[in-house]
Amino acid sequence: MEKTDIKSLNLEELNAEMLTIGEKPFRAKQIYDWLHVKLADSFDEMSNLSAALRETLKNSYEIIGVKPVEVQTSAIDKTQKYLFQLYDGNVIESVLMRYKHGNSVCISSQVGCKMGCRFCASTIGGLERGLTTSEMLSQIYAIQKETGERVSNVVIMGTGEPMDNYDNFVKFVKILTDQNGLHISQRNVTVSTCGIVPRMRQLADEKFQITLALSLHATTDEKRKVLMPIAYQYSLKEVIDACDYYFEQTGRRVTFEYSLVGGVNDTDEDASELISLVKGLNCHINLIPVNPIKERDFVQSNKKVIDNFKNKLEKCRINVTIRREMGRDIDGACGQLRKSYQDRTAERKL
Ligand code: SAH
Repeated sequence: MEKTDIKSLNLEELNAEMLTIGEKPFRAKQIYDWLHVKLADSFDEMSNLSAALRETLKNSYEIIGVKPVEVQTSAIDKTQKYLFQLYDGNVIESVLMRYKHGNSVCISSQVGCKMGCRFCASTIGGLERGLTTSEMLSQIYAIQKETGERVSNVVIMGTGEPMDNYDNFVKFVKILTDQNGLHISQRNVTVSTCGIVPRMRQLADEKFQITLALSLHATTDEKRKVLMPIAYQYSLKEVIDACDYYFEQTGRRVTFEYSLVGGVNDTDEDASELISLVKGLNCHINLIPVNPIKERDFVQSNKKVIDNFKNKLEKCRINVTIRREMGRDIDGACGQLRKSYQDRTAERKL
């Protein structure tokens, strides 16, 4: 019989499980506390449960975690990149960024990705599978345990498309922000999507207070199709309407991510088109100097072009920031550490 992934159960579900195995409901609260507050990795740590109950749990449930196999630390800003191994041998990456306002962890939502964005390293090997709720949570738990420092912000901007792993993602948000768990404020959680419109609308209806970030990257459907295959499925109009709907339903300002690719989407004309596209929307634009990956020949826009692009937007009173590059000296961009680890292990096998 397959064991149940206990860390992916919310408190209500855990209560129901305890009832079915003839235990008192308060046991559910105790176990939930061990898993999501004390961040236990084994049933043996759960010292306020009887030995008999711990045995019963071991027979029917498993605690799914992630195991660090490599950690890189930036000498510049102490950003840390973690490579984690999963129960099935797959590897994923997560990043810890230390800011003045607190520690922020960027997690992966899938093993690989099928969205095919041209500049992104995560998508090169395609999609392996979606992560379980427990695997998403465990990236944060493992980093908090390892550093002994509280994580206050979470961004779902690592490998994978969270809207392509919707149910596990939504459950992850609920458990992560639950007052009986780590209780991270929903306002400190940001999810980034390439723009899967029906899921964005569904997320709006969940009425979370999390920030939605849309990977925009281009200002016309034609240009967006060059960078992002998802643009063949949903037009810019549909995507922007979904962002509007998100704002209507949640009152949360949407972030547009715009990776500046030298000579591709960084001209004055692009800036003007971007201004007309977002005019009147309650939004924030995050300009990301593209992080070149060796498999593609995209280059970063030069500094002057980036500053000029930003100034143009600011003149029209659009909220805009340039994303600070963290961990430049380590395999910083999405999917690069995992990719280089896979390349290295493949070389060793030859
Ligand atoms: N699938 C989601 C989240 C993962 S990527 C999404 O598409 O939004 C997080 C952000 O990093 C996205 O905006 C993505 O387009 C961007 N990104 C990926 N690779 C990049 C690179 N090499 N340089 C700059 N931005 C990149």
